[in-house]
Amino acid sequence: MSDTIFSKIIRGEIPCHRIYQDEWVIAFLDINPLSRGHTLVVTKEPVATIGELSDKAAAGLGHALPRICRAVMKATGATAYNLLQNNGREAGQEVMHVHVHIIPRYAPGGGGEESGLRVAWRPTRLDQADGADLARHIARLL
Ligand code: 5GP
Repeated sequence: MSDTIFSKIIRGEIPCHRIYQDEWVIAFLDINPLSRGHTLVVTKEPVATIGELSDKAAAGLGHALPRICRAVMKATGATAYNLLQNNGREAGQEVMHVHVHIIPRYAPGGGGEESGLRVAWRPTRLDQADGADLARHIARLL
């Protein structure tokens, strides 16, 4: 995979407001935050999507994430947060290097600003026959 801006941040070639790093991840503030405290947790393994991660890198990400979430919440006083993880251009991914967004959410009048995140959630109804086929198909591929 080609070098990304996040690889440059990992190597220290581009500055960031760093929060945490260990063998597997680095976490820093997003340069264009959707809310105060918007944080990116970036894998040091340089792959584009979560399905390409090695088991060890995935475990490292999963291990670090809850602790970073707790610290972001405590530091900002946010009352909730969204985790957003885009995989591929059609999903809105711009930097092709695995990362999880931690986006703090603030109660109205709670001291933080309204988040810039809007989730347009338009559910459909699961087709039972297709669902049965699809679930079996996915399960066979695991
Ligand atoms: P994506 O759309 O790929 O999920 O999100 C990429 C995120 O990386 C965006 O929220 C963008 O603001 C952030 N970003 C891009 N370049 C930089 C940078 O150089 N420094 C920091 N701190 N964040 C960046």
